[in-house]
Amino acid sequence: MSTSDTAAQGTTVPGAAETSADAAAARPAGDGEMLLEVDGLGKHFPVTAGLLRRQVGAVKAVDGVSFSVRKGETLGLVGESGCGKSTTGRMIMRLLDPSFGTIRFEGQDITSMSQARMRPFRRDLQMIFQDPYSSLNPRKTVGAIVGAPFRLQNIQTENGVKMAVQEILELVGLNPEHYNRYPHEFSGGQRQRIGIARTLALKPKLIVADEPVSALDVSVQAQVVNLLEDLQDELDLTYVVIAHDLSVVRHISDRVAVMYLGKIVEIADRNDLYERPMHPYTNALLSAVPIPDPAERGNRQRIRLQGDVPSPLDPPPACRFHTRCWKAQDICKQVEPPLIELSHGHHAACHFPENTTVSATDEVAKAAVAPGAAPAAETDGEPTD
Ligand code: SF4
Repeated sequence: MSTSDTAAQGTTVPGAAETSADAAAARPAGDGEMLLEVDGLGKHFPVTAGLLRRQVGAVKAVDGVSFSVRKGETLGLVGESGCGKSTTGRMIMRLLDPSFGTIRFEGQDITSMSQARMRPFRRDLQMIFQDPYSSLNPRKTVGAIVGAPFRLQNIQTENGVKMAVQEILELVGLNPEHYNRYPHEFSGGQRQRIGIARTLALKPKLIVADEPVSALDVSVQAQVVNLLEDLQDELDLTYVVIAHDLSVVRHISDRVAVMYLGKIVEIADRNDLYERPMHPYTNALLSAVPIPDPAERGNRQRIRLQGDVPSPLDPPPACRFHTRCWKAQDICKQVEPPLIELSHGHHAACHFPENTTVSATDEVAKAAVAPGAAPAAETDGEPTD
């Protein structure tokens, strides 16, 4: 069901109750212009059975995520495989239609725009794909691949395309003479540079990079990450970087959002999140990050999570992490903790957060008695699914 469908029917959708408050909570501090605002976004894939293909359930891949990104900022989106981070990225790019929620780009609601109306936005919104081996057409030359966006949008003459492509190739550290070569003639790192060059062709404002270095050798990863940073400075780009590798995300992000089973459980400035994680899940993820220094390695205690990630077909009620959390108590199984600001710019969804003396539950209770506290009062912990 598309967003417009939902709106038309006037139905209540999962996650909707928490959207406005969560969106406000997950807004970045600072004065920069807001570029992307995601509010209560969700994607449920129907599961069908039988000859008549009747719907018997839904995979709740993304279930009401909210965040905003300012111009020039990099937001890292992390979590285990299957947590919904790539689905979120594809919805932002409008490669997938959301089931509910809204996406605003430069203040305009693009959630249910037709492909024709999306066309001008395609210049501004681009995606870097994970696998440089399969994301490039092996039958096309580098010139044809990187020049395709110009041709699709009818922007340049054929001569102009060649010059523009060669300029971009130079910008990403490739030789302009590579114009007539084919992808198989390049290494993995060079192929990812070709993919980045294609993304930059139309001078986008926002790039969603889905695991941009995970398919590359470690030695090449740093080069590509540095290239992304240099290009951001040079071209004033804004990134949403999706990755499971917390070291890469730490290096490249200004803020980091942690996802678990279709929800954002923590979002904060990079240093704050890595030095003072508040959600137990974030803490467990960080405890597994390799430390190069053997002396420091000995001081750290690894948190080993028990069990597997539950199925998004039937996620646990209330706090979705309670089946694996060593701190879980009865309230965690009954009341969903809202994503709420627990210290300046640091939001977490947990009844018993770490590295702080306050909890999401305390903050909600406080907001509920404060004058004009309506938005927080709406998210008083009722389970949303
Ligand atoms: Fe763990 Fe409870 Fe916090 Fe969920 S709400 S992360 S179960 S302590």
